[in-house]
Amino acid sequence: MAGPKSIKRYKNYMLECIWNDGFRAIITLENFRKECPCADCRKEKPKDEQFGMQMLATFTPGKNELKQLNTAGNYALTPVWGDGHDSGIYTWENLRDICEKHKLSEVEIIELEEKYSGKNQK
Ligand SMILES: [Zn+2]
Repeated sequence: MAGPKSIKRYKNYMLECIWNDGFRAIITLENFRKECPCADCRKEKPKDEQFGMQMLATFTPGKNELKQLNTAGNYALTPVWGDGHDSGIYTWENLRDICEKHKLSEVEIIELEEKYSGKNQK
């Protein structure tokens, strides 16, 4: 599968992917990180689902901040996160699934912008 035509950060906390077939998705970095396909993150998941609030306990600063967006060869995306995590290899197929699953609607994007701009004013 071919990679997206363009991938770029969108307003710091979102990621915009435009695919060759014209599909455009904006997803939050939070969801992007949540879908990290590495073995460690996959292991954490059942625990999170079981205890619900446990997820807050495992939150580390910078977890949802994207430091760098690297590509591995021509088949995958390997982001480096603010907490130093870099072992997630998102294949294009993987990324496409995530885009389809977490695509934000225009309304959701506006709501997020309001939420984040409100935060910055404090
Ligand atoms: Zn991971």
